[in-house]
Amino acid sequence: MNCPFCKSKMEEKQGTMKDDNVRYSFYKCISCKEELLDMPQMQSLAKKYKSFRRANRVSVSKWGNSLAVRIPKSVAQELHLKAGKELLLMKEEDGIKLLL
Ligand SMILES: [Zn+2]
Repeated sequence: MNCPFCKSKMEEKQGTMKDDNVRYSFYKCISCKEELLDMPQMQSLAKKYKSFRRANRVSVSKWGNSLAVRIPKSVAQELHLKAGKELLLMKEEDGIKLLL
């Protein structure tokens, strides 16, 4: 992609939204330093924020030698989760996913 302002080459870079730690990619002009997002990058960022709206902020506690995350009651009820239920924990590029 070439810069729409000075026509120089643009490089794809990774950025992080400071307040909520959301990672995204964008293009930066090697010459005038202009930064912009193309449609796929914007759609990817919008998708992350869309899933954010459904997110719950939880904290990590110590549980023996492990760490524990408390699942909010509303989430547990919605998913019919009970104590003792086994879940699959998957490490993802940007976090952890729990599968029923
Ligand atoms: Zn430029």
